[in-house]
Amino acid sequence: MKIRSVQTQPVSIPTRPEFSIVSAAGEHRISRYVVVMVRTDEETAGIGEATVMPVWSGETQAGALAAIRDVLAPVLIGRDPLEIGALADAMDRVLIGNPFTKAALEMALLDLAGKILGAPAHVLLGGARRAPLIALKFSIGAFDPRAAAQVAETVAAQGLRAVKVKVGLNVDRDIARVEAVRSALGAAFPVAVDANGGWTESEALAAIPSLERLGVNALEQPLPRGDFFGCARLRQRTSIPLLLDESIFTARDALQAIRCDACDLISIYPGKNAGVRRSLEIAHLAAAAGLECVIGSNLEWEIASAAMVHLAVAIPNLAESVAHDIIGPLYHTRRVGVEPIAMQNGCAAVPSGPGLGVELDQAAIDGLEAGG
Ligand SMILES: [Mg+2]
Repeated sequence: MKIRSVQTQPVSIPTRPEFSIVSAAGEHRISRYVVVMVRTDEETAGIGEATVMPVWSGETQAGALAAIRDVLAPVLIGRDPLEIGALADAMDRVLIGNPFTKAALEMALLDLAGKILGAPAHVLLGGARRAPLIALKFSIGAFDPRAAAQVAETVAAQGLRAVKVKVGLNVDRDIARVEAVRSALGAAFPVAVDANGGWTESEALAAIPSLERLGVNALEQPLPRGDFFGCARLRQRTSIPLLLDESIFTARDALQAIRCDACDLISIYPGKNAGVRRSLEIAHLAAAAGLECVIGSNLEWEIASAAMVHLAVAIPNLAESVAHDIIGPLYHTRRVGVEPIAMQNGCAAVPSGPGLGVELDQAAIDGLEAGG
């Protein structure tokens, strides 16, 4: 069996206005994706999703389309689709970076392999290590305190059982926002914060006593990406577990964080890590260092969210004290699975069908505007 073609389709959809993300990394009001389909000469096909965001990884829809057409598809076509590891290595050899674009193709290969072998994607990752329900935390944008408290109440009423609050823009306003969310949700509700690299070290130090008083259960990416030594110093000054997201795209980044004692938790997800199997590699590296992993997010749509839940159920060290960000589908009014991934009672369910377990609603995608 050989890979015969790689098809792409750019799709853009707005986020729900009441939930749009405002953070130290800017505003996220439109989600841009490239949906990919890898087909074989035996008419089997796998689907993947590139969740592109220029401020996150430097990738755009147009760039992803060009990279796939001109660079990545040519190294896949004609190859055996089951050689996923070798194909991922081949993609790395011809293109630096572009993790979300590579992840879309690797995801499609995993989906395809699962369909060919009749197994869910997580079985190809070693099988389920836990119950197929992954606890979620909703992400509350850097709104004014009243609006942030309102979102908190809305999502708690919808069954979400954990949240994180975006901070990293201004320490006083950040703390006022966390304070408002805490009083809206009560003392026992799990509340994390994510600064998206927006604080300086002295700002983070100024914020920490209030975050501790407010019972924050994780401090995500307090300092700019790459500042491992700064994070190591912060860890000496707080009891709040430090979670690194933007600082860790690759296994090499994770190794650097581990060597520097820069974090307690590592955020992983297929797009950022250039593939589900790359995320798994980082999870194993973290496990060897005694660290747990949290599934992060770039507001993925149905396909990449499915890849995230398959990953979450398979890794050895999924964090239990901090919930996970497989929340993209909750931010959008449009779903693209014929049977959307079940998200109830604050958990996402792992699809049980072969591959990623998502059947694409092509009519729904065709009705959406590309580009934007
Ligand atoms: Mg983050």
